[in-house]
Amino acid sequence: DPTVLIRDLRVRYGPREPWALDGVDLEIPAGWTVAVVGPSGAGKSTLASVLLRFRDPDGGSVSIGGADITSYPADEVRAVVSGVPQDPHVFASTLRENLRLARPGAPDGELWAALRRARLADEVAAMPKGLDTLVGTHGLGLSGGMVQRLALARAVLAAPRVLVLDEPTAHLDPDARDAVVADLLDAVEDYSTLLITHDLTGLERVDRIYVVREGRVLQEGTHAELAEAD
Ligand code: ADP
Ligand code: ADP
Repeated sequence: DPTVLIRDLRVRYGPREPWALDGVDLEIPAGWTVAVVGPSGAGKSTLASVLLRFRDPDGGSVSIGGADITSYPADEVRAVVSGVPQDPHVFASTLRENLRLARPGAPDGELWAALRRARLADEVAAMPKGLDTLVGTHGLGLSGGMVQRLALARAVLAAPRVLVLDEPTAHLDPDARDAVVADLLDAVEDYSTLLITHDLTGLERVDRIYVVREGRVLQEGTHAELAEAD
């Protein structure tokens, strides 16, 4: 069975609102990275918020590891699904404290393991103060890519089976984007991952791509298949 199985998912923000998701079918087999691509308003963030259990479906189903998503207690779901939002929070504190938000009291060894997974360990090890390095609000002193990888390390520390990356390059300058996408794709290789993004750029290595618009899946395929259809 795929890790994530979405069938005929429908979501709307009010009884008179149009469907933000209007019958979406999507699967994430174990260890795959699946991208959801589409213009603003297509329903991508809504999909992320259902997977992260910020919203319940209004129709259809989402199952994770064979269990319906609504059957996971709120305090257990974060160990199953976690993510990196568009604009990750960074607190004006040490890197250690920023990482421990995900797992209070976690020993340094676990923090380093998460940093390695997120491809951030070398940079932190090269800092004179290592985990004791102070970072400013909004990650002052960190590059945009490092902020994304710090948030990814946090998501990984929560020990999820499924990662949701919500437009990880939305706030980065175009020159940095390709490298950040490549780093993130390396880092999430072993996870079942949903990557939300605007366009097909940098998605050659993704296992499958869904193109969404107005709450529906328009096309589905590999990067090569979709690039050819363009
Ligand atoms: P995307 O992430 O692809 O830009 P969204 O999931 O944010 O798309 O939005 C899908 C649709 O749902 C849009 O029509 C949007 O206006 C609507 N929508 C999103 N969030 C809300 C909300 N909190 N309240 C009402 N409508 C919303
Ligand atoms: P926390 O668990 O830190 O109290 P939340 O419950 O708001 O915070 O978020 C849970 C996890 O989901 C966090 O790792 C957060 O960074 C991530 N997250 C929040 N919003 C999004 C989003 N739109 N897309 C992806 N990940 C998100």
